[in-house]
Amino acid sequence: MRGVSVSGMWKFQPGDNAEWALPRFDDTSWVDRRLPGRWPEGGYPETNQLAWYRLTVKLDVPTPQDWPAQFQLALKTGKVMSAFEVYAGGKLIGGVGALPPLAELNYDRVRVLAVPSSAVATDGTLVLALRVWGGDAGITDAWGSGPYYGDFILGNNADLLLSTARSELPGLLASLLFIGFGIYHTYLYRRNRQFRSYLWLGLLAINIGIYGITLNQWKYAIDFSFLVWKKIEFAAIYIFPAVVIQMLWTLLDTQIRQWLRIYQATFVVLSLAAILIPGMAVLWSTLPYFQLWSLPLLILGSVLLIKRFRDGHPEARTSILGVMIFAMTCVNDLLIDLAQTDTMRLMPFGFVAIFAAMAVSLANRFTANVSRLEDEVAERTRALSVANKRLQEMARIDPLTKLLNRRGFTEEGLSEIQRVFRGRREFALMLLDIDDFKRVNDRFGHACGDAILQQLAGCLRGALREVDVIGRWGGEEFIILLPQTNERGASTVAANLRSTIAGYGFAHDGVSLSITATIGVSLHRKGESLDACMAAADRAMYAGKAQGRDQVVFSDSAAAVESVAGAREVTPPSGDAS
Ligand code: GH3
Ligand code: MG
Ligand code: MG
Repeated sequence: MRGVSVSGMWKFQPGDNAEWALPRFDDTSWVDRRLPGRWPEGGYPETNQLAWYRLTVKLDVPTPQDWPAQFQLALKTGKVMSAFEVYAGGKLIGGVGALPPLAELNYDRVRVLAVPSSAVATDGTLVLALRVWGGDAGITDAWGSGPYYGDFILGNNADLLLSTARSELPGLLASLLFIGFGIYHTYLYRRNRQFRSYLWLGLLAINIGIYGITLNQWKYAIDFSFLVWKKIEFAAIYIFPAVVIQMLWTLLDTQIRQWLRIYQATFVVLSLAAILIPGMAVLWSTLPYFQLWSLPLLILGSVLLIKRFRDGHPEARTSILGVMIFAMTCVNDLLIDLAQTDTMRLMPFGFVAIFAAMAVSLANRFTANVSRLEDEVAERTRALSVANKRLQEMARIDPLTKLLNRRGFTEEGLSEIQRVFRGRREFALMLLDIDDFKRVNDRFGHACGDAILQQLAGCLRGALREVDVIGRWGGEEFIILLPQTNERGASTVAANLRSTIAGYGFAHDGVSLSITATIGVSLHRKGESLDACMAAADRAMYAGKAQGRDQVVFSDSAAAVESVAGAREVTPPSGDAS
């Protein structure tokens, strides 16, 4: 059962008289007055802002004996400024706030008041009377007192209680959601300090959530006085522009200038003043100024947004819509307060719009940040792997001759040994040492020696196959691996190489010179290590040196396989100045 509205025309009389509560009182001379409906500006000072409303109702089911079991007649009130008492059948059944001399303001609370069956006359007539106190002059002047919001409804007590609680539930849940969302975002900020906007969005959400709770009847589950709840409500409203500035300016990457800081600080001060200055007067006396004082922010925010929008700032586009909606709700609510228009208050929706826009902006920014970071990581990884590759190459290559260095050659040699192991292939190693190279340096200079080493590298490359692995073993010693090469092959290659070098026209700085080299050859035996094979080649090479240089020596016999006529003598490099 939803109950029956008793809003509409009531009888009205300024003044105060206990008789006016009684059913037998004749109110026909009173004026008609719509309920809810605000009093005119200034109220009724001549009666100390006291006035009465009366309504006579005829119930459909007149006698309480015929009412269903569990039925308890009750009246749900609307909101009345600033305090009121309700009488049914001449008896006080309750009220909100307190009238003078106690004079306790409370114009927010909706109550469900039980109507005793004795209040109903035998013919089903029920006389309701409302004794209203308009409040201080400040309130009556600024806002207009009296019943101003919500229907008065007669119905079953339990049903009315339930429907009141239920209708306020979505607002409560939305507020709690905002607060949860806000706490979550401040937490995100704590984990991720670079996302400053998260902090401000979080605080903005908490701010809106608290404001939402102060608008909700469920707040009375917490036993704060009306005054405390009002102070929280105003503190939340007054601090809002300060947080919006912080949030919007951070979101749009704009520095807050000093004058804007001062403007922002005034809202913080106003918010603190609302809490700290005792009493209600500070609240309703500051509200119109606050509203006017907030207007510049609408303009400043819009100008900034448009500017950033033109600059192509990615967050400006989404924010602009929210701010526009918010601005319209602000204007609407301002008109309610200043021009007393009879439209619905829309500011809470404005809050939600601005908030949603900022949340979307922030999400966009987060996504953009993440993908930018990903790109950066990918780019750095790529650069790193290129650098790594180069380093790896550098570690394997001799910078002077561009041949493999000792490490590079050893790697190649080891993998060739692997291949041999798998494929029953064979290979030969040659160790080549330039004869009397010291004297080249001594006679022609170190730069000339370097040039010869480089030219010899080119000579080796030209003389050998693509598959042969050439390395600079150190100083003027070179090492060559000949894959798939037997003794005969190795012998031919070595002999060719020796004679090629001896006949090669080396030149530096207009000086042409010739050199010779001694080559030690070792055939790799299956199962032999690379080191052992190289040591054998080294021994053969030294044997060749001992035997007079410019020759090829095989390790097996450690004897010259090929001897060159006239090579027994030490052959000094010859240089012809030309
Ligand atoms: P042998 O016939 O016994 O090999 O006599 P050698 O002078 O060639 O041998 P030795 O080992 O006594 O000297 C090698 C010289 O090679 C010593 C050093 O000055 C020279 N050398 C080593 N590395 C480089 C280099 O990178 N550039 C130049 N210009 N000279 C080098
Ligand atoms: Mg040497
Ligand atoms: Mg030498």
